[in-house]
Amino acid sequence: STQAETLEFQAEAQQLLQLMVHSIYSNKDVFLRELIANASDALDKLRLEAFRDKDLEVDTSDLHIAIEVDREKRTLTVRDNGIGMSRDDVVGLIGTIAKSGTGELLRKLKESSDAAANELIGQFGVGFYSSFMVADEVTLVTRRAGESTATRWSSAGAGTYTVETVAEAPQGTSVTLHLKPEDAEDHLFDYTDEWKIRQIVQRYSDFITWPIRMEVDSPDGAGGTKREVQTLNSMKALWARSKDEVDEGEYREFYKHISHDWRDPLETVQVKAEGTFEYQALLFLPSHAPADLFARERTRGVQLYVKRVFIMDDCEALLPEYLRFVKGVVDAQDLSLNVSREILQQDRQISLMRRRLTKKVLSAVKAMLDDDAERYRTFWNEFGRAVKEGLLSDPENRDALLDVVSFASTHDPEQLTTLRQYVERMKDGQRHIYYLTGASRQVVESSPHMEAFRAKGYEVLVLTDPIDEMWVDAVPEFDGKPLQSIAKGELDLDTEEEKKSAESERDQQQKDFAAVLAWMTEKLGDEVRQVRLTSRLTTSPACLVGESSDLTPTMEKIYRAMGH
Ligand code: ADP
Ligand code: MG
Repeated sequence: STQAETLEFQAEAQQLLQLMVHSIYSNKDVFLRELIANASDALDKLRLEAFRDKDLEVDTSDLHIAIEVDREKRTLTVRDNGIGMSRDDVVGLIGTIAKSGTGELLRKLKESSDAAANELIGQFGVGFYSSFMVADEVTLVTRRAGESTATRWSSAGAGTYTVETVAEAPQGTSVTLHLKPEDAEDHLFDYTDEWKIRQIVQRYSDFITWPIRMEVDSPDGAGGTKREVQTLNSMKALWARSKDEVDEGEYREFYKHISHDWRDPLETVQVKAEGTFEYQALLFLPSHAPADLFARERTRGVQLYVKRVFIMDDCEALLPEYLRFVKGVVDAQDLSLNVSREILQQDRQISLMRRRLTKKVLSAVKAMLDDDAERYRTFWNEFGRAVKEGLLSDPENRDALLDVVSFASTHDPEQLTTLRQYVERMKDGQRHIYYLTGASRQVVESSPHMEAFRAKGYEVLVLTDPIDEMWVDAVPEFDGKPLQSIAKGELDLDTEEEKKSAESERDQQQKDFAAVLAWMTEKLGDEVRQVRLTSRLTTSPACLVGESSDLTPTMEKIYRAMGH
């Protein structure tokens, strides 16, 4: 071997490793799920690359994952003949954590209880590092498809790891764990036990579409046993099976596999289309919003498969932007394996699929709203702000969206209301749905505009998300009732009688204040155009009002500074 070096883990990686080594995560079995998931990804990548690059010299005839145990040495190896890694890949991918949000995760982990830490780790998906929950030393040997030399990496999970270039290794990756001696006596953590491994694979990785093989003892037919290689997983693509063949637990594991979320999904949506453009989709609504829901550089959650072959993650063409939190898989039968993001954006069949999937998701939300108010509320609290973007960007589904949105309202400060519920409570003769936008609930409720509405007993929607300012202008009405801001335009809340008395009151005031107004106009002279009475104010004695053609105070300052 050549060029052995000892390198340090990146600081954040070290911290995460520390947490793994001390194993605050009680469910250690998931390390195997993580290693199998990586192997499965590597096989997906190899198949795709071999398809796209005909010059790549690789054998793709028997792609699989193998698990090997050595009870004497107490080692467990997970091997794949997938894409493999170059030496640079190994240093870059295994020695550092490229994922955004690691820093935040670490901060949270340190502050949280063990139970909360479990959730966080699972949600984040600690991946390869989870090996160090069960191993005191990990060795990885890998050769990238198309390269002639291989790389050997090993670490005890403390601050450093070693890498060296080795002349020979099969293409793909093998990860060998030296299991911790302290777990040797505990059958719960006996990862050299065939049944233990079988059970973990079936629980977490049954749907993996590559065979996961292991040599096991099986009856030889003559009363003894013989060694035999068996495939431990069923490999059935979950999305291709009908709902009644699959139990909830399988859906949940699959969701966790594709989403890296430790928690159960809130809702599962299955779609099957037959005919000229055939596809199956299995979509999930998570129960928690990701931290990057409103970040510019975020990932989307839907994977595209073509005829069971993984094509890409984060496929943005399959659902509109405002449903970016939906996770899942879409498997299309009639696309080329060569399909690119650009082609997908322009494909007519894809846009039809996207419309159908959008409608399905929205009707799943509607069903939650109708059947399970609690779950709907969780959904809305987590994702409502994103969904409301659709009111602006997706006119085609506006009605479906208006059916599922909900808002704070003056009716009940503790509860959100749907538009339907608002309309049902409208007063006799009320034609509009009233709302007021503002930076916070408190700002909106203490607005002077609110007073008259409160006095008359009209319900007002309290809209405090930035996006609310925007969609209200795009949405004219719900159920034939126009949406009306209580801060804009002419508002006619009074009866004829009230109007008459208000008018005579104003006339009287005009007479009472005529002398004062004339005096002020004279005193202020050229400074103002006019001094007049107003009903705008409730507590302040006076304010300056510009004509619409006037400069704003800020512009005035700028002009003055420029010497005008
Ligand atoms: P994640 O899978 O979420 O990216 P991991 O810690 O599990 O995070 O793995 C880090 C990276 O290391 C992977 O993204 C992949 O690029 C690489 N890797 C891990 N295992 C393998 C493997 N068996 N074959 C090829 N690459 C791998
Ligand atoms: Mg991984």
